This record gives sequence, C-alpha cells and structure tokens, in this order.
Amino acid sequence: MTIDIGANDVLIVVDMQYDFLPGGPLGAPGADHIIPLINALATRFANVVLTQDWHPPGHVSLASSHPGRQPFETIELSYGPQVLWPDHCLWGTHGAEISAEIVIPHAQLIIRKGYNRDVDSYSGFQEADRKTHTGLAGYLKERAIDRVFVTGVATDFCVGWTALDAQSAGLQTAVIEDATRGIDTNGSMHRAWANMTTAGINRLQSNDILAA
Ligand SMILES: [Zn+2]
Repeated sequence: MTIDIGANDVLIVVDMQYDFLPGGPLGAPGADHIIPLINALATRFANVVLTQDWHPPGHVSLASSHPGRQPFETIELSYGPQVLWPDHCLWGTHGAEISAEIVIPHAQLIIRKGYNRDVDSYSGFQEADRKTHTGLAGYLKERAIDRVFVTGVATDFCVGWTALDAQSAGLQTAVIEDATRGIDTNGSMHRAWANMTTAGINRLQSNDILAA
C-alpha cells in the first residue's frame, strides 16, 4: 500500500522530548532510532504539528506528588485511573525540550499538554478528564485537514490517546507504527493496539508513505 500525502493531511509528532528518549526517566526503548524516520516523513507533509508534554511542579501525574507512592502504580483520581510516573517534562527543564535532532522547521504548531496541575493529558486533543479540549481539533478543522498520521512516543500512551481522539473528532487517523516506540507497562502496548484497531485506526509503516 502506498499513500499520497496532500494538503489536507497532517503529520502529528508526539512528545519527542529528551525525557522520553533513551537515557531519560521515561525513555521509550529505541525511541532515538525513529528520529531519522520522523524527519524523513515530515518532508512529505506540508502540515506538521508537534506535541510537548509540559508539567508544572507538583503535577498530579508524578509519583513524587503523592507521598508513599511509587512510579508505575495506578491511583484513582476524580477523572479515573491515573498511572503515576517518574518526574518528567517539567516546565523549563532540559528534559522537557523537544530533541534538537528533530529537524522539522516547517512544523506549524506545538501543542503543549499536561500544564494543568490537577489533570494529566496523554492526548494532544483532550485532557484526561475527557472534558478539557486543547483546541487541536478546532485548529485542524479550520485548516480543512481531514487525515491525521501519528508518530512519536509513547505508542501505548500519548500516541495511542492522540490517535483515538483524532479518530473520535471525525478525522481519518493512522498510526505509523515503525515511527513510534512504546513504554509497555502492565500490558499497555497490547491494550493500546487493540483499542486503536477497534476504533478503526489504520496501522501503517513508514514505507507506505516514503515509497509513494
Ligand atoms: Zn507527562
């Protein structure tokens, strides 16, 4: 299958920040290897949006904000279950920066998410309370974009939730599998792909686009 990319398509590059790369506190194994692929894919798209996980000190998703809790435990919050993470992507830190090896000068928009202290946001579209919107769906709609291709990290969290919300927003959505990497805690990788498949999200490989 080869896919021609056009003016109504967008590439979303999720959270390619130092803290999610190998060596970071939440490094997705092999995430550094997808950088050249993402850069190559981006040259095929006129429209590119980046997301950036962006937390204030004391953010609700951090285990360090909950005395006695450990990273990767799940707790119940007002909006549902929340996995607790090691400290990551704190405002103004080096780890929160998007890797300098991501070279996409024509990227038009950076959506920061998770900046509300009491709500996490895996998705680039909607926070974890499933009520607060980031504005990304409206932005894409105003730009007449109707197909979304998702890359980045982590497949089983921010990539997956972003893809599911894009599809729910009425956008035809695909995840470019080999341009993503996962964290895979407690079966999360298997669950994410099952949910995406059920939702009708296409599972592509980068060659489906690069070979066109
Ligand atoms: Zn986060």
